[in-house]
Amino acid sequence: MARYTDSVCKQCRREGQKLFLKGQRCYTGKCAVGRRAYAPGQHGQGRKKTSEYGLQLRAKQMTKRFYGVLESQFHKYYEAAAKKQGKTGEELLVLLERRLDDVVYRLGWANSRPEARQIVTHGHISVNGRRVDIPSYLTSVGETVSIMPNSRKSERIKAVLEANASRPVPKWLDVNRETLEGKVAALPTRDEIDLPVDETLIVELYSK
Ligand code: SF4
Repeated sequence: MARYTDSVCKQCRREGQKLFLKGQRCYTGKCAVGRRAYAPGQHGQGRKKTSEYGLQLRAKQMTKRFYGVLESQFHKYYEAAAKKQGKTGEELLVLLERRLDDVVYRLGWANSRPEARQIVTHGHISVNGRRVDIPSYLTSVGETVSIMPNSRKSERIKAVLEANASRPVPKWLDVNRETLEGKVAALPTRDEIDLPVDETLIVELYSK
């Protein structure tokens, strides 16, 4: 399975934004965005590209990295969003938010999306009582996501749950911290998605 091999902190520095890809470290003074607030590489501290195309490209790249999705898959999400009735940019973000790895992260069952992805692929998560190990699985309204019974005894899972016990869960998800179940109560609205990107730039890029 293809995946990013670049340092995750470099991805944040490239975008000039925290993408929260390293869990607890992202909230400490060790975060690379705070310590080296310029793009990586030889020309990282040089003049910034500010053309219209450059802005559109950065919006797309940042969104891909935020959700850990590669180009071909991201383009498929865009095509699916374009077929929907709503605004294409917002529909794109809703599709990305519905991914099972994102839902696991949003529920506070992982320190970061990359970790959520691993937790899903390792078989720790079920949807409506059936194990699902595909991070890109698209959850739907009414579905219940939970941690597999055996996985609840795992020290790693216990530590993650404890570390994220006070992290706010978005309103479109109902979480029960006792039963370790989360229900998709609604689809997220744009103002419930904390991605600091103007998604219309992505639509403009792909519409060329
Ligand atoms: Fe990004 Fe987290 Fe690394 Fe900071 S510590 S640069 S937010 S991945």
